Parts: sequence; structure tokens; C-alpha cells
Amino acid sequence: MKKKNTQLLGAHMSIAGGIENAYGRGASIGCTAIQFFTHSNRQWAMKEISDSTIRAVQEAQNKTGITHAMVHASYLINLGSDTAATVKHSLITLKKEIEQCNALGINYLVLHPGGGKSDPQKVMQQISAGLTEVLQGVPHNKTMILLEIMAGQGSHVGSTFEELAYLRSNVHEKKNIGFCIDTCHLWAAGYDFSTEKGYKKVFEEFDTILGISHLKAIHLNDSKQKLGSHVDRHAEIGEGTIGLEAFRLLMNDKQLYSIPKVLETPKDELEDYARNMHLLYSLVSDN
Ligand SMILES: [Zn+2]
Ligand SMILES: [Zn+2]
Repeated sequence: MKKKNTQLLGAHMSIAGGIENAYGRGASIGCTAIQFFTHSNRQWAMKEISDSTIRAVQEAQNKTGITHAMVHASYLINLGSDTAATVKHSLITLKKEIEQCNALGINYLVLHPGGGKSDPQKVMQQISAGLTEVLQGVPHNKTMILLEIMAGQGSHVGSTFEELAYLRSNVHEKKNIGFCIDTCHLWAAGYDFSTEKGYKKVFEEFDTILGISHLKAIHLNDSKQKLGSHVDRHAEIGEGTIGLEAFRLLMNDKQLYSIPKVLETPKDELEDYARNMHLLYSLVSDN
């Protein structure tokens, strides 16, 4: 039981009725970590966050004891786009997202690296340059951008550890760039961590190429698609193609204990998240 309490485990929460409500919702099913969007993830428009919201979020943080919250950046942001207008909107929106995270006292902003039609190396350089520009535009920034590993769908970059390393290495403010593993994306990208041997190999590779200390968040999702499919389709834990052994290895991996893990499983009612969390906790061994 003691070990279970040291895990930072939760789920992606709705902010319906106000950002502060994400905390209460999470606490009601025992989350010790949560994730949310601060605004509609499919619209550019972002409302300013008022002082009363900032106060309400601080109160919610104190009341629930949930200190590990991360924000997922808008899906529209694409610093690697071929369209100048999209890049411009992306730079403005990402800067606002970071400023809002700072105002709310949130340390991590999860971002899909993006993609474009030109040569991947050029796309990655454009993304890194965009990240540099945004980070340099936010003085006294305390929020780290976590580049999430992608499934490798379409023209998206960031589906290999090498690409993620390349992206970070070309950002000037490296200390503000970390990584987020999404288990569904990792699997779809072709990394087989479903057996003890495979798991060890994948995480050793991560450590060699990216450094395990730069892994700051994990999205726990099973996958509807096969290993290496490059298709991003999340499934409930144990109901996809990854299998429970991978999640048992993850939940018992001591080097990952202090890393917040959140579910983004397709059934997003609180009871569904609670069921997935219960299953994950049942995999934690006592020794
Ligand atoms: Zn994501
Ligand atoms: Zn994810």
C-alpha cells in the first residue's frame, strides 16, 4: 500500500465550469496527478485567465493536494507547418499557453512537436527555432515544454528518440525542454516494451539518446492499433494490443515512480478513469 501512495497517477480532466474544477474532479477519484487543456484544443481563440481563476486554481491545488498538474497544449499548434499563417498563430498561441501555465503555477506544458511537408530535418529546425523564439519571449519562465513522442502518423516528426533529441538539441533554452512518453504513441511508433527484455531495451535506449532525467511525464494509454502501425488510436488499459505486462513493468519501475502518469483513455467519464487507475494499481507488487 505504501508504494501505491508514492505513485503520481491520474487522468486527463475536463475543465467544464472552470479550470479549478479539474482538480476537484481528479481528487474525487483519487488522482495524485492530472492533465487538462486550458481552452478548447481545436480553436485558436484563448480567453485571458482572470485573477479570480488564478486564485481559484491555487485554492483547488491546496484543497486537493494535487501539485502535479500538467497542461496539454492545443492540437492546432504546429511550429513545423508549411503555412506561414499557421506558424504565426502557433507562435502566438504557444507563448500564451506558457504564460498561462506560469500564472497558474503549472510546471509542464505537453506539446506535439508538429510536422510539415518539407524535408524532416528542415521541419525539425523550424520547430526548434520556433521553440527558441517562444521561450526567449517569456521572461522568468518556470514552465517546461515537454515534447511528446508521436505515433509517426503522416508528416509528424518526433516519433523516434533520435528526432526528439535533435529537436531539443537545436533549442537555445534547453533547460526548458523535456519529454513526455505516451505509451500508445511509443507502441505505434514501433518501440516494443511489452516484455521485460523489450522494456529494458527501450528505456535504456531512451536514457542513452534522451536522458531519463529529461522524462517528466507519461501518458498511459493502450493502443487499438498494432506495434509499429504509426496510427494513433488510444484504448482502455488492458483492452488494446500492448497488453498488461507492459503496464505492470511501468508501474513497478522505480526510476519512474516520481514521474506523473496520466490516462488519456477514450472513455473519459470519471468512473472509467477510476476503473483504469484501479487496474494499474492492482499491477503494483508489494516487494
Ligand atoms: Zn498528446
Ligand atoms: Zn498523449
